[in-house]
Amino acid sequence: MSGKTLPVQLDDIHAAAARIEGRVLRTPIVESAMLSERVGVPVHLKLEHHQTTGSFKLRGAVNAVLSLSVEERARGVVAASTGNHGRALAFAARAEGSVATICMSSLVPENKVSEIRRLGARVRIIGRSQDEAQEEVDRLVAEEGLVMVPPFDHPAVVAGQGTLGIEVVEQVPEVDTVLVPLSGGGLAAGVAVAVKGLKPSVRVVGLTMERGAAMKASLDAGRPVPVEELPSLADSLGGGIGLDNRVTFAMCRDLLDDVVLLSEAEIAAGMRHAYAVEREVVEGAAAVGIAALLAGKIESRGPVVVILSGRNVDMEQHRRVMNGEIIYGKDAA
Ligand SMILES: *Cc1c(COP(=O)(O)O)cnc(C)c1O
Repeated sequence: MSGKTLPVQLDDIHAAAARIEGRVLRTPIVESAMLSERVGVPVHLKLEHHQTTGSFKLRGAVNAVLSLSVEERARGVVAASTGNHGRALAFAARAEGSVATICMSSLVPENKVSEIRRLGARVRIIGRSQDEAQEEVDRLVAEEGLVMVPPFDHPAVVAGQGTLGIEVVEQVPEVDTVLVPLSGGGLAAGVAVAVKGLKPSVRVVGLTMERGAAMKASLDAGRPVPVEELPSLADSLGGGIGLDNRVTFAMCRDLLDDVVLLSEAEIAAGMRHAYAVEREVVEGAAAVGIAALLAGKIESRGPVVVILSGRNVDMEQHRRVMNGEIIYGKDAA
């Protein structure tokens, strides 16, 4: 730990939990007999992919929108998103009487784009990277007065995601290790503050893909660095962390015990296990925890909680992964 005060504290997460209660689901947690047997300690799956809108992103979006003034809500909210945040913000804005404008890169799958439109948001497709989409957000904030709700680098968003961590400790008090999918780090930062605040001995491990892992590259460099965006099964983990990152970089640096990288083949194996054994449809980003356990990349002395973060996968892509087709990377068909 750096010893400096982090921008999101356990109190902020308790406040977020009270604010969003009744507006988001408290998702179930189940023990996986197969994974427990394989790893040698109890493995619990936090079924957050069953959250409304299909991912945990709703927690942060609802908390952020509810933290705005009435006047700010009336102006409308805007964000750059690889899909799930846009979907969550569209839902949250509509539920609270606002309108969302969502900017996203052309790499975002079509199923995610159309779903966001269906939820009542305005969509802008711009550029080929999260950073270019972000420039359009900045323009809309400056020229049209919209209020930005970023996907991860915002205290209210991090606090909202952290509410998941409170549930984890309540549902599995004996937890030893929490496996968290990692991209911009809002989920990992919030969950780490919550679980370590409630139970300091818990290890929190961030999991991400080998292809274009911006937070991992930034942690290694000691400062936010850009990475090349590459297509991955874990498309929800793509994108940079922002070169002017204010919140999540320092939190991940200070709070994460480890970061583990997964290949495309390992992520595919995680998705297959989720479906064939656990009977759960998860997107690639949500399969990294199971993938890491199956690959033997996690050591834990006690119970493990795996966060299944989302299920917004194109079902044709899901079918191909189930059939064993390799989709991205050097072995791709
Ligand atoms: C956004 C997202 C993540 C990563 O969350 P960050 O807060 O950006 O680290 C993981 N899984 C899914 C399904 C997501 O939508």
